[in-house]
Amino acid sequence: MPTVTLLKENFKPKLSKYLDIELKKIFSPDDRVVIKLHMGEKGNPYYLKPDLIQPIITTLKLIGAEPVLFDTPTLYRGERATPEKYLQTAAWHGYEETLVGCPVVISDDSIQVKTKHLDAGVSNVIAECDGLVAASHVKGHACCGFGGAIKNLGMGGVDKKTKEKIHTYSRPKLNPEKCIGCGQCESICPNGAVKLENGLPILDYSKCWGCGQCIVKCESQALKPKHALFDELLSESAYAVLSRVKKKFFVNYLINISELCDCLSDPGKILVGDTGILLGDDIVSIDKASNDLITEKAGYDIFEKIHSKSGLVHINAGAKLGMGEMDYELNIG
Ligand code: SF4
Ligand code: SF4
Repeated sequence: MPTVTLLKENFKPKLSKYLDIELKKIFSPDDRVVIKLHMGEKGNPYYLKPDLIQPIITTLKLIGAEPVLFDTPTLYRGERATPEKYLQTAAWHGYEETLVGCPVVISDDSIQVKTKHLDAGVSNVIAECDGLVAASHVKGHACCGFGGAIKNLGMGGVDKKTKEKIHTYSRPKLNPEKCIGCGQCESICPNGAVKLENGLPILDYSKCWGCGQCIVKCESQALKPKHALFDELLSESAYAVLSRVKKKFFVNYLINISELCDCLSDPGKILVGDTGILLGDDIVSIDKASNDLITEKAGYDIFEKIHSKSGLVHINAGAKLGMGEMDYELNIG
């Protein structure tokens, strides 16, 4: 059973100590190690700040490895939509080679990896590295309830075309024969992409981002995803990314746990207080432990309540793909 280590109190000083123990077991001198990190949309207050990432960079350099901070440009328009704009935003947020002591790379170049529903474009930078550390901010997400390491790689480790596929292959399609005209889909849609006309929902795909909230809320099962749920596609994409990586380690930061993700300049309110930092080498168990700790703190599945979708859907999908295990042993560091 995988072990997940929780640094609960005084976690910043403890992080270096535990990284020194864990990263030495995995990485070797001269390894080119990608640190996959979301460096924050402009205006977002909760993205992971450089002081939380610096211990990973320093530890890898002490081993003799060559760390590279990396992310991909966004699908949507904004301050991270191109490598040039993203590098500028990253620099505003303190991620610049002269400040962090390692290269900062943003790229949309990719190689194709086939999965059940996706021809995924896995980032070249990840595919060509010797190892990967996924540094993931844990927070809510409108399309998958909760975003942790699987979200970091499944959306952030692939090119724009794959991001688009995940958002469009998951759009709902209607079986009118099953529809009872209850209007649940119209009321749940966060984007106003569903309107009931003559007792049947009309779907406006130009407003739909494929979150699937309408699909899971339709008790008559009149709505189905075009190919698969967003959550399943996200995990498939993360699976494609990890299929190209031999050495891997995960650090999940349960800090500033906001309602929405770091892609937004306004990520909503903080849901629960800071819970700590988790470390482990199994992507499924570290996300499951993150979700469990937040659920325990809130007293209920807070992501399901807010986003009508539990984070467990995509974590389970990852386990079914063989990416990792749902069971874990929690070690308090
Ligand atoms: S929730 Fe389902 S049954 Fe109700 S209106 Fe929408 S599609 Fe029809
Ligand atoms: S998938 Fe999400 S955005 Fe699209 S219609 Fe359903 S609830 Fe609205």
